[in-house]
Amino acid sequence: MSISQLARSIAESPTLKLNEEAQLLRDRGEPVINLSVGEPKNKTPITAILGATAKLKTGDVKYVPTDGLLSLKKAVIRYTEENYGRLVAPENVIISTGAKQSLYNILFSILNPQDEVIILAPYWVSYPEMVKMVYGVPVIVTPEDGSFQPRMEEIERAVSSYTKAIIVNSPNNPSGVVYSEDLIAQLVDFCERKDIYLIMDDIYHKLVFDGIRAVPGYAYTNRDVDTSKIIVVNGVSKLYGMTGFRIGWAIASRELVEVMTNVQAQTTSCPAVVSQAAAEGALTGVQSGVENLRLTIQNNRDVVMRELSSFTDLKVTKPGGTFYVLPDFRAYNGDSVALANFLLRKALVVTVPGKEFGMEGHLRLSFSGSVKDITEGIRRIKWAVDPNAPNEIYIGDRKLVRDWL
Ligand code: PLP
Repeated sequence: MSISQLARSIAESPTLKLNEEAQLLRDRGEPVINLSVGEPKNKTPITAILGATAKLKTGDVKYVPTDGLLSLKKAVIRYTEENYGRLVAPENVIISTGAKQSLYNILFSILNPQDEVIILAPYWVSYPEMVKMVYGVPVIVTPEDGSFQPRMEEIERAVSSYTKAIIVNSPNNPSGVVYSEDLIAQLVDFCERKDIYLIMDDIYHKLVFDGIRAVPGYAYTNRDVDTSKIIVVNGVSKLYGMTGFRIGWAIASRELVEVMTNVQAQTTSCPAVVSQAAAEGALTGVQSGVENLRLTIQNNRDVVMRELSSFTDLKVTKPGGTFYVLPDFRAYNGDSVALANFLLRKALVVTVPGKEFGMEGHLRLSFSGSVKDITEGIRRIKWAVDPNAPNEIYIGDRKLVRDWL
């Protein structure tokens, strides 16, 4: 079969692959615990459901403007003013089919072949693949001190005359780390001086704990949105638990939004109108659900930290946001893919290998699920990696047998 070299080089989504395997085990009746999923368990906000149903009831579900419904754009403008202190125009906003499409459209619109994009490790798995998909070159910067806080000197060292953009995701998937205000300030200043785009993937920006704030890049520039190098990406997937609606957006200069609109027009025409009505309902309805989710997830984070503290040889960086933690398992096994497979087969727990995020030797555990699953999942992992633990345990009447790695 003839398949392009580029398409062939794009990696399979590791999470989806592990989830398929977990589903096969579940179909066989196995008590699998999934600590890999990146979505909150909460139900869709009622105002989102009402918005979507009202649209459906009209029976008028058609193509709509490529860059999104004006009413949803207005809701995004209000959100931006309230959360970022910036008043933007409808022409600065483009609604897309998830933040993922926004990111892809941005990269497609700003990169020429061989242009470089700086990606900070650990990074969300899709960034390097997306850059490659538009013939760009991902340049990975890994903190030399082994922390998950990138340092400006290290970023600057990776910049070349081909650098077009830096992608920043704080709070960070997969580490849960919130970048320091200092770093964000330095990045904004650097990018605006060097004429490099600063793509801020803010999809988790309100899922922060212990009074930590994820500062918006706009706080550090006097430029307006049309002249600033900052591009903000956000959406309803994580904060409103609306992953299935597939609505995200980007805030950028009018010039860039215009180009992104052309790209979107030739690919998906427009985001689905029923989903847009739902997103508008979520953004304009009562916002207490977001705070409730944040509190639930913060409590889950505390449970995770308590459970992980019982491992003797694990290094854990406490997450300041998101619903992920990325412990360092190198004292047990440095091969994260082998370890994740071992845990799935022997302990029936799904995790994601750190290798996929540019952090070999680590595993990403999601705490977006129930406290019961988180506790049981981590206890099973501990049993599986602890050489002093008994070789067999029972989960109900299912016997788990561990052969050491
Ligand atoms: N950005 C990051 C860092 C994510 O973790 C995800 C989803 O996991 C997305 C973007 C994609 O969000 P959406 O569902 O809006 O496409």
